[in-house]
Amino acid sequence: MVVLDGKLTSSIIRQELAEKVKSLKSAGKKVPHLAAILVGEDGASKTYVNAKVRDCEEVGFGSTLIKLPSETTEKELLKAIAKLNKDEDVDGYIVQLPLPDHINETNILLAVDPKKDVDGFHPENVGKMTLNLPTYVPATPQGIVELLRRYDVPTDGKNCVVIGRSHIVGSPMSILLSQHNYPGNCTVTLCHSGTRDLKEICQKADIIVAALGRPAFVKADMVKQGACIIDVGITRVEDPSKKSGFRLLGDVDYEAVAHKCSFITPVPGGVGPMTRAALMMNTMRVTELSE
Ligand code: NAD
Repeated sequence: MVVLDGKLTSSIIRQELAEKVKSLKSAGKKVPHLAAILVGEDGASKTYVNAKVRDCEEVGFGSTLIKLPSETTEKELLKAIAKLNKDEDVDGYIVQLPLPDHINETNILLAVDPKKDVDGFHPENVGKMTLNLPTYVPATPQGIVELLRRYDVPTDGKNCVVIGRSHIVGSPMSILLSQHNYPGNCTVTLCHSGTRDLKEICQKADIIVAALGRPAFVKADMVKQGACIIDVGITRVEDPSKKSGFRLLGDVDYEAVAHKCSFITPVPGGVGPMTRAALMMNTMRVTELSE
């Protein structure tokens, strides 16, 4: 069994990006600049955004963090977005989700200039991804694909089950793995809360991508011997023994499942760091895609 080490792989990617930044600088070219908008005080969102800013600093990108209070109106947020769309120094930006309930997420995602949409959530970029055209691919599925590639995980002709159909993880993951690429060319089954016989479907899978947000949902009796397991889930559960007061649990019953697998991602240290690395990779592609 091979542990797909997202922490290690993402640090290698950051080193590679730092080298590219050095070459850009020495060629007198512009270094990518990533901005992030954070609305409100959500603890997990703050942690994620701060980590993204740290990643930018580490690789040598420019970064700007725009913090807005939770009472920010949709109109005010749209104004901040319009400003970033016009700002020539900012190459790409993200609006950290989730947004407070009084803000319509779709209106916000539609307002982002597709050329600066490094999260790949704008319908124009989703359409391009679906057609296998060059574009920004949402960071989590992109990070998973990169991890599979770097570990040479066989995917061609494999049966893949994706559990979860969200626009940011499950749905794009199912599209990418069904495309005629490596990693990809899988026969994909996209499962969700309405799926019947999920256990039987999973038992036939060579690859399972679990992205439903239910701790330890994927049990050993759902997994075929030799399967590759990608655990996307991150659920915070209270743990007074930790300094932070919580620990992170994945969607896979890791201890029970790992010994049956050919490959598996741990939580933490698997998909999470690869998601951050993929955002940095998307930001690096800004110039390439605009050309
Ligand atoms: P979501 O809540 O938007 O979607 C969950 C999906 O799971 C839905 O499509 C639902 O139909 C499906 N589902 C729920 N219960 C199910 C069941 N019993 N059987 C089958 N399907 C079921 O979630 P999301 O935003 O896609 O995130 C999923 C998980 O991944 C969460 O734990 C989230 O924190 C985590 N996540 C991790 C990263 C990362 O970088 N590691 C990034 C994004 C999300």
